[in-house]
Amino acid sequence: MAKSYKHLETKLIHAGEPDPLINGAVSMPIFQSVMFEYTGETSYHDLRYIRLNNTPNHVALHEKLAALENAEAALVTASGMAAISTSLLTLLSSGDHLLAQECLYGGTHDFITKDLATFGISFDFIDGDDPDSWKEHLRPTTRAIYVETMTNPLLQVADLTAVVEFAKAHGLVSLIDNTFASPVNFRPPEWGFDLSLHSCTKYLNGHSDIVAGAVLGRADLIEKITHRLNHLGGSLDPHACFLLHRGLKTLAVRVKYQNESAFKIAQYLETHPAVETMNYPGLETHPRNKRARTLFDGFGGVLSFELKGGVDVAERFIQNLTLPILAPSLGGVETLITRPATTSHSGMSREDRQALGISDSLIRVSVGIEATEDVIQDFEQALKA
Ligand code: PLP
Repeated sequence: MAKSYKHLETKLIHAGEPDPLINGAVSMPIFQSVMFEYTGETSYHDLRYIRLNNTPNHVALHEKLAALENAEAALVTASGMAAISTSLLTLLSSGDHLLAQECLYGGTHDFITKDLATFGISFDFIDGDDPDSWKEHLRPTTRAIYVETMTNPLLQVADLTAVVEFAKAHGLVSLIDNTFASPVNFRPPEWGFDLSLHSCTKYLNGHSDIVAGAVLGRADLIEKITHRLNHLGGSLDPHACFLLHRGLKTLAVRVKYQNESAFKIAQYLETHPAVETMNYPGLETHPRNKRARTLFDGFGGVLSFELKGGVDVAERFIQNLTLPILAPSLGGVETLITRPATTSHSGMSREDRQALGISDSLIRVSVGIEATEDVIQDFEQALKA
């Protein structure tokens, strides 16, 4: 009988695993082989060759990832940016137009604003919170709409159901970067999104030791993106596939803990007299808390905040911490802290950042899986100092 699993926790362990097990190996072996013996394949894209992302390691991962979000298909890529750029360059060609949420991960923002124009592709930014304003940006050449589940670094939650409705009404492909939520907290295909994108460098792998990406969603689109990826070359190495496969198995355990821990830390910071503003979608004071509660099963492990007193105070606070590591990126088992103006969003001009509400003093924390009390205690001593 074909095996199918209902719950995400079970899919993480069993979906996509070889059946029967390869030589009885309980853990998926690494197939570090460039090519595989020809068995009569008739299309270039079906040849079994490492760049075509179809070694047994890729095949197993594709099946597991698709199962996690109840997507029709999935594709792993060499990085989150490879997933994003290859998807956009598959859906859009010269003369086409893209609608994109105005506050995005810095790399995506830069790709849209600096690189797409060189391919003859234009864009307009939209306020994800104001669906009534989207129509005025629509053009006959608009092909796609792009948003993030929770924006980086402000943790805004766009009107995601309106995005899907708008896309369907106007024949656009809807894309969402679901990195911050992970499939544990949000599964875009279940809400009607055509494509869900991930930087697997973050939560999906979870151990800060590989770079990888993924696209999940409609099978017809995944096939087109796969063919474009085959030509652009952004495939994932089997060894990285193996590490991602291994990291995925603990995704639910990690993310549920991070949801809880980040929530407690956000509650602690929110009431601290030294804190000026606090961004975490789980808090009742978050402007879109009600929407987040409707959409998400958990609110994720990332939060951001500003301290009273500006950049110098923020820097002193960060320097006084002893537990979090001062580094960009997120979604790993260790707590990381950064000022996005100096890292993830340093490619944007200061004016652009300010216009979006990303101040120079904004601090972003990616909560790890350490004891919550230890993180709070460290924050407490650093705030006192
Ligand atoms: N999407 C989001 C939300 C991110 O935060 C990042 C990286 O920080 C990316 C995409 C890009 O991912 P990668 O570094 O794996 O290319």
